[in-house]
Amino acid sequence: GPCQLSGTVHDCSCEYAAVERVNKEAVLPLLRDLVRTPFFRYFKVNLYCDCPFWPDDGMCMLRDCGVCECEPDEVPAPWKVADTAANCEGTGSPSRLEAESEVDRSVDASTKVHLVNIHGWRGYNNPWMLEEETDSEYSYINLLANPERYTGYKGEHAHRVWNLIYSQSCFTDITQPDVCTERKVFYRLISGMHSSISAHIAKEYLLDEAQDVWGPNLPLFRDRLGNTAVRERVENLYFAYLFVLRATLKAGPLLEEIAYDTGFPEEDARTAELVRQLVSSEAVKKACPVPFEEGRLWKGEDGPQLKRQLQAHFHNITRAMDCVGCEKCKLWGKLQLLGIATSLKVLFAAEDCGLGSGQPQQLQLERNEVIAMLNLLERLSASIEAVRELSLQLADGNWEQ
Ligand code: FAD
Repeated sequence: GPCQLSGTVHDCSCEYAAVERVNKEAVLPLLRDLVRTPFFRYFKVNLYCDCPFWPDDGMCMLRDCGVCECEPDEVPAPWKVADTAANCEGTGSPSRLEAESEVDRSVDASTKVHLVNIHGWRGYNNPWMLEEETDSEYSYINLLANPERYTGYKGEHAHRVWNLIYSQSCFTDITQPDVCTERKVFYRLISGMHSSISAHIAKEYLLDEAQDVWGPNLPLFRDRLGNTAVRERVENLYFAYLFVLRATLKAGPLLEEIAYDTGFPEEDARTAELVRQLVSSEAVKKACPVPFEEGRLWKGEDGPQLKRQLQAHFHNITRAMDCVGCEKCKLWGKLQLLGIATSLKVLFAAEDCGLGSGQPQQLQLERNEVIAMLNLLERLSASIEAVRELSLQLADGNWEQ
């Protein structure tokens, strides 16, 4: 296993080796196909900058001018004018970060389709998710055209966001022995997502800027994920993967019923079939019958209060995404947090909604939640495979020159 991980994933009943194998052979191939389907490749997101934690230092302006580079016909006429006026005023010279590196960290504007005031939008109805204002402006982003990989976003700006996340009071004493399971679970989800981002950077790094050559960066992998001192980060990646996998399987009956309608019946039928294969996979059940046992959580006396606290921290972390000064990073950061929030909703919200009414309510998911959860699962799945591959290459020792 990677970094000599052995035994069972902490808090899960699955062996590392079994997870690694079933992921490579059964889960990842299905998810790779799934995220390429028309239904799963468009994510609705608000990429505007309104960082509530520190003043805008110009970092956010870059992507707004990306919007302006759209072909005029692409953006619906009524609000194209408003867009242009609101977003590109006063963004004079490119910011320092733009000048430092040539890597394109803005999302591919040619695939953007704007959408304002989605008709009938009633929010996510998810206690883990911040409800955005109804008049927020969203774009649909083609995820395939904007892969998660190295962007050159690093240093002080990136650290400021990670610091903000890890300085949430629920995390500051996380290494203490008496920290409750719920907080640990929450920390491991965020840390696992962070590991996953690092894995994708290491797997798809810009090796030669002049020639536009992309490939693995083994020294970077070794430093961030491939040494025993940071083994916990890889463990957290496995944990996050199993957590989201459990949520996906639990939502299986609902996911099998959804109308995957994008107007292309043949492709939509294939989407439904891939989902069915994933949620009913015998290989997964055999390798890992119960990826995570959610029933153990929130059982203490302070359960409901603890949950409200962690939800407030999750909202803060979600807000921190508006401070990410790299459009692509923000896109994937927002997608993955919505994926985590959706997993939390699937595993815990039925009981939340049932509180007081005496009857658990039926789980309902928004289209965007389904898209986020399964794309997150694909990202985590691809990261587990990337860690496996890069660990082998690292162990080979032939890479050092
Ligand atoms: P960082 O990854 O910045 O980590 C900062 C500190 O956090 C570390 O020093 C360590 O103490 C701690 N830490 C690191 N990993 C973990 C972990 N798994 N669990 C717990 N603690 C940890 N860059 C890209 O190139 N492409 C992207 O798509 C991208 N997406 C991003 C999305 C978000 C939301 C953010 C905030 C940043 C993103 N970045 C992306 C930047 C990237 O995550 C790093 O910040 C950057 O590559 C610099 O890395 P670093 O080695 O300095 O450590």
